[in-house]
Amino acid sequence: MTSVGPAAGAKLDLQVPLLIIGAGAAGLCAALAANEAGIEPLVIERDKVPSGSTALSAGLIPAAGTRFQRAKKIEDSAELFAADIQRKAHGEADSAVVAAVAQGSAATVEWLADRYGLPFDVIDNFNYPGHSAMRMHGLPTRSGQELIDRLRSATEASGISIVTERVADRLLTDADGAIRGVEIVAGDGGREQIGCGALILACNGYGGNPDLVRRYIPEMANALYFGHPGNRGDAVLWGGALGAQLKDLGAYQGHGSVATPHNILISWATIMQGGFQVNRDGVRFCDESEGYSEQAAEVLRQPDGVAWTVFDARIADIARQFEDYRAAERAGAILNADSVQSLAAASGSTGTCIAAAWGEVEALKARDGRDNFGRQFAAAQLFSPLYHAVKVTGALFHTQGGLAIDSACRVKRDNGSIFPNLLAAGGAAVGVSGATASGYLSGNGLLTATVLGRLAGQTVAGLQRDF
Ligand SMILES: Cc1cc2nc3c(=O)[nH]c(=O)nc-3n(C[C@H](O)[C@H](O)[C@H](O)COP(=O)(O)OP(=O)(O)OC[C@H]3O[C@@H](n4cnc5c(N)ncnc54)[C@H](O)[C@@H]3O)c2cc1C
Repeated sequence: MTSVGPAAGAKLDLQVPLLIIGAGAAGLCAALAANEAGIEPLVIERDKVPSGSTALSAGLIPAAGTRFQRAKKIEDSAELFAADIQRKAHGEADSAVVAAVAQGSAATVEWLADRYGLPFDVIDNFNYPGHSAMRMHGLPTRSGQELIDRLRSATEASGISIVTERVADRLLTDADGAIRGVEIVAGDGGREQIGCGALILACNGYGGNPDLVRRYIPEMANALYFGHPGNRGDAVLWGGALGAQLKDLGAYQGHGSVATPHNILISWATIMQGGFQVNRDGVRFCDESEGYSEQAAEVLRQPDGVAWTVFDARIADIARQFEDYRAAERAGAILNADSVQSLAAASGSTGTCIAAAWGEVEALKARDGRDNFGRQFAAAQLFSPLYHAVKVTGALFHTQGGLAIDSACRVKRDNGSIFPNLLAAGGAAVGVSGATASGYLSGNGLLTATVLGRLAGQTVAGLQRDF
């Protein structure tokens, strides 16, 4: 059972300067940054091979003012990015943390590219909802598996130890509230106590803990959880026991376009380039372009909890840059047809209903019109054959609530003071999405994992402690 307890008198099996729990993007970026500053980290990971939600993601990191953007003449700035984050978050995100991630984003992506050889480029053939500039940086496969594999290679090449198949179970504390170490459990049940000068929690949120999801996010209690099952909310549970400040526990990243029953993510490019969704009965139900996160609950509210995403050949070409989309094609999830009637027939909807929604959308596009939900359409996005549809459902990707931190990733107590040597990054910390699913700006997940991970590692190097 995850717990916290005094370390007084405990005999430690090992003492390290810095312990990091979790080997996802946040943990590995923290390890790389601390290591560069001369602090030797030890990373504890429950899985045999690091993967986390990072491996399940599309691996896209938003960053403003990068050389990748400049090469494509994309104008952007940290200020514009920060304003986009806050606009989507309804002004509810901590402005100091928002400024830190927006200002640190370009340096972090360039750091990963230039120092560790991650071959990023910026997506310039479609944009995500709420971003006023093209700023999503991805690796060639556009997959998180490539991101985590490259981060792990960089970590190993730097000589950093990742101890796998070990679960951090109990935080050991001093009388002054500082973290003294962590008790970890091996696969055979054996326990070890490892002392540390500082601790970074990089073990993501509580999407993999159905009890916590039921308590904090009831609307997603029965939804497909599409994130890493090993993210069981340990940071939040430890934080609660330590008297840490917990924020925005009802916030999450959902996604309204996971192919069902195949369980493969279908890129939101399908919507942003002019596609639309209808429910089982062929009826549109909202402005899909608001964002994929809030769309999860919208789709789940429809009959059978499913929708059809409808798009065309031009959009499919754009979506094909994603390994996930290609996998969906291989799995037979994407229907192809040369007329709207045959598409509707293949999708099982009545031809009349889907054709009606189709006709309305295409008529709106033809006159650059806006629909009753407020969605703006563009003539440049009129459909042409082939036509495609994919049956999708809404899913919970990861939770956004977590430990409140300052702009240097140091965890705050309930009373606002700072723990002397406890830090959090990525999904373990509260995100920059405010209190609801609709506050999630695309990329907030890996933004706070990579930028805050790096920052947490740098902060540890600056702590005035005897390591
Ligand atoms: C399908 C999908 C697509 C996504 N696409 C994107 C995207 O393109 N862009 C974006 O910005 N975000 C995306 N996200 C969100 C993004 O993946 C996460 O926000 C990000 O990966 C979080 O990184 P992390 O390092 O905090 O957590 P993780 O990558 O989940 O790593 C946490 C690690 O901690 C380990 N762990 C947990 N508890 C313990 C413990 N007690 N002891 C030891 N180890 C422990 C876990 O095993 C795990 O390896 C997506 C998410 C999903 C599910």
